[in-house]
Amino acid sequence: MYCLASGSSANALLMVAGDRALLIDAGLGVRTLKRELEARGVSPASVAGVLLTHEHIDHVRGAVPFARKYNVPLVTNRATLDALFAQERRDAPCCEVATNGETGIGPFAVRALPVSHDAAEPVGLAAAVMRQSPTPPIPARHAGVPRRRQRRRVTGRR
Ligand SMILES: [Zn+2]
Repeated sequence: MYCLASGSSANALLMVAGDRALLIDAGLGVRTLKRELEARGVSPASVAGVLLTHEHIDHVRGAVPFARKYNVPLVTNRATLDALFAQERRDAPCCEVATNGETGIGPFAVRALPVSHDAAEPVGLAAAVMRQSPTPPIPARHAGVPRRRQRRRVTGRR
């Protein structure tokens, strides 16, 4: 879990599991988001979803542009999606999760819980990893010592 930004000007968290990631709020601009992800070894294409707690600008600045650019779903309840798309005057890929509901986004289980805040339908979001992608095997040519040296060590006399 990484904090990319926190405070009144921008909020964004990053959760990584294997080769997939989840953004929780996207208050940074889309270019800054990309830079912050890549600085942590995460490509924007590996982001499975952008979870949104509510539609205030410090939580959603880069959300719609990011979702459209990388074809990543915005994940939140219908009221927040409607408020966000109205304020942005355009929509984006999305995946609705009801408040008090649960959904799966890539390898993540996401749960939306009601919270009190002056927004359309603000939620607290809990995300857990359901399954981790398997670690790819190390290519044979990179594993262990070179064969010739290995054999000499096995058969060499003292
Ligand atoms: Zn707010």
